[in-house]
Amino acid sequence: MILEQAQSYYRATANAMPERAPLAADLTADVCVIGGGFTGINTAIELAQRGLSVVVLEARRVGWGASGRNGGQLIRGIGHDVSGFAKYVGEEGVGYLQRAGIESVALVGERIREHGIDCDLRWGFCELANTPAQFAAFKDEQESLAALGYVHETRLVGPQDMQQVVGSNIYAGGLVDMGSGHLHPLNLVLGEAQVAESLGVRIFEHTEVLELIHGDSVQVRCAGGTVRAAHLVLACNAHLEDLEPRLSGKVLPAGSYIIATEPLSVERASQLIPQNLALCDQKVGLDYYRLSATGACCSAAPAIIRGAIRRISPLTCSPSCSRCSRNWPTPPSSSSGAERSASPPTASPRWGG
Ligand SMILES: Cc1cc2nc3c(=O)[nH]c(=O)nc-3n(C[C@H](O)[C@H](O)[C@H](O)COP(=O)(O)OP(=O)(O)OC[C@H]3O[C@@H](n4cnc5c(N)ncnc54)[C@H](O)[C@@H]3O)c2cc1C
Repeated sequence: MILEQAQSYYRATANAMPERAPLAADLTADVCVIGGGFTGINTAIELAQRGLSVVVLEARRVGWGASGRNGGQLIRGIGHDVSGFAKYVGEEGVGYLQRAGIESVALVGERIREHGIDCDLRWGFCELANTPAQFAAFKDEQESLAALGYVHETRLVGPQDMQQVVGSNIYAGGLVDMGSGHLHPLNLVLGEAQVAESLGVRIFEHTEVLELIHGDSVQVRCAGGTVRAAHLVLACNAHLEDLEPRLSGKVLPAGSYIIATEPLSVERASQLIPQNLALCDQKVGLDYYRLSATGACCSAAPAIIRGAIRRISPLTCSPSCSRCSRNWPTPPSSSSGAERSASPPTASPRWGG
C-alpha cells in the first residue's frame, strides 16, 4: 500500500496541502521530472524560470519522501569533508564543491525570502565536537570558510561555554555558524511546489511512473497517461528501485529516524537549546536536533545503511532511550549552572525515512 503522506510532526503541523490530480492524459513537455521532493520541485523551478515547459510526476504527494520528513537542518556543505575528492576532481573541483555547499543554503534562503514561503526558517547552527580533537579541527574549518569568502558570522565556543548553546555537558566545544539554520521541511517543499506552479509547472500527484521508453524523446509511462519529453530528470531519491536499471544498482538506501517531543515550556526549551540553534554532532552515526516553532524538540538518530550491522528502529526510542540520556544526562540534584545538563524531554511522535 502506498501511504498518502508519512505521519510525522511535520504532517501534523503542515500548511495547506492542496491535492493535485493524477495524470489522466498523454502530454508533451520539454522536461519531465519524476519525484516531488526538494530535488524535483527545485529543478522544475529552475527550468521553468529559463522558459522550459516542465511536468512533475509524483507517485504519492509532494513532500512524501525525505524532503517532507527530515530533521529540518539547513546546513552548508554536503555532509562531509570533500578534500579527499581532489584526486578525482582536482583542487578546483574541490573548491567548486565547497562553494556549492555554501551557495545551496543561500539559494534556499533566497527562495524562501523572495516568495515569502512560510516554513519557520531560523538562522543559526552549532556544530558540536564530541572530542577535543574535533574541537581543534573547528578552528581549521573556520579559517577555510573565511578563505572561501564565507560572509556569515562564525564563532568558536569553548568547552566551558557550551551551556550557552546546549543544555548538555558532554560536548568538547562548538562552532556556531549564523549562515546555516533550521526550518519546517514539509512546509518548505509545499511552498516551493506553489512557486513552481506559479511559473507554469504542471504537477501530478498519485502518479507513479511505471516505465521509461528511451528514443528520440523519452516516453514516461504511468497508469493514466504518458508524458513525452525531450529531457528527463530522475529525482526519486532512494525510491528509484528498478525504474532506471543503469542507476538502481548504484543507489544505496539509508535510513534516519526522528522523534519529536511534546511541546516544551519556554523555560525548558531555553534550557535545552538556549539560542534556538540547529545542533549536530560529529559522529558518523550523528545526533542532530533543534527546536520547532511550536516548541517541540526534533531529535534525529543516525543514518543506518540498509542491511548493515546495526539498525535502529524509531520504536526503540523512548523517554528512557540511551541516546537521549547520553546527550542529556539527568543532573544530580545538587548540580547547577555550567555543570548542569537538562534531562531529556518526553518523546511523542516518531518517524523515519
Ligand atoms: C529522517 C531524515 C532526516 C534527514 N534530515 C536532514 C536534515 O536535517 N537536513 C538535510 O539537509 N537533509 C536531511 N535529510 C536528507 C534530505 O531530506 C534528503 O537529501 C532530501 O530530502 C532528498 O530530496 P529528494 O527530492 O531528492 O528526495 P525525496 O524527498 O525522497 O523525494 C523523492 C520523491 O520521488 C518520488 N518517487 C520515487 N519513485 C517514483 C516513481 N516511480 N514515480 C513517481 N514518483 C516517484 C517519491 O514518492 C518521493 O516523493 C534527512 C533525510 C531523512 C530521511
